[in-house]
Amino acid sequence: MITFGPVPSRRLGRSLGINNVPPKSCTYSCIYCQVGPKPNKQAVPRPFYSPEEIYRAVELRIAALREAGEHIDFLTFVPDGEPALDVNLGRTMELLRSFGIRIAVISNGSLIWQKEVRETLMSADWVSLKVDTVDAGVWRLINRPHSNLQLPCILDGMLEFASGYKGILTSETMLVDGINTRDSLVTGVADFLGKLAPETAYLSIPIRPPTEEKVRIPGEEQLNRAYQLVCNRVGEVEYLTGYEGNAFSSTGDTAMDILSITAVHPLREEAILELLAKTEGAWNIVEKMIEDGKLRECRYEGRKFYIRCYPRGTEC
Ligand code: SF4
Repeated sequence: MITFGPVPSRRLGRSLGINNVPPKSCTYSCIYCQVGPKPNKQAVPRPFYSPEEIYRAVELRIAALREAGEHIDFLTFVPDGEPALDVNLGRTMELLRSFGIRIAVISNGSLIWQKEVRETLMSADWVSLKVDTVDAGVWRLINRPHSNLQLPCILDGMLEFASGYKGILTSETMLVDGINTRDSLVTGVADFLGKLAPETAYLSIPIRPPTEEKVRIPGEEQLNRAYQLVCNRVGEVEYLTGYEGNAFSSTGDTAMDILSITAVHPLREEAILELLAKTEGAWNIVEKMIEDGKLRECRYEGRKFYIRCYPRGTEC
């Protein structure tokens, strides 16, 4: 299937997904990838589907959705692989422009050192780039790149892209327990993101079944530390935890509100007290959530934070 969805996305609203490369066509073979190992990693862009074929599939889907009265916020290139491997991505975006819907590309950024790829991505309205680490050894461990790729070139390419890009640039960093969560590694990523200056830096965790069983979700303390370290360099940082509800609308149910917000970022003690005051809730709501294993108290630089708990120790 070339199109899927639309799926509700916190980042993109109602996003109609486009598979412009066949599953597993990727430059990486990340240890946390949900689409399984990639025996044939590729690093040279080439044609897959024709732009016209993708255009027709999207046209049909949009027509059906419009007839059903469904709204679409973004056409999103988010295949089970790397969208920039498709040498026709630029031409396809050009054709899709006629629908008058914004276009997003979720890329691992590994081909952005190539001028043609940068130029193609420039024409998207919204781009996400993967920055799991800036340490070449850890990069080989976590992203398992094609042997022709070089991390310094990729990082330079990302900075060059960011300096000229007029759309919305975001970054995504997957945190895998014990692999890229050490403070020094996260600080390296934070320093790089400080230069890249994405509109929002998303921190994700492997909440869905990954390729490798050894992949584990980091502990809440680690997640909070990573959040704070990246916050020191980038204005807007959010968790991307698979929760796609409306994180900031008050439901009148304080426990639900706390869970929604902590799915996006840690909450300071004072912020929780403020929330409770608004709904005339008592602190025992928080105690009960901690007791039920839904929330955890963490400390960072003398302050108390509350962070959502995720199942650990199990294969996620
Ligand atoms: S970049 Fe994405 S599709 Fe490619 S291996 Fe990593 S997680 Fe899987």
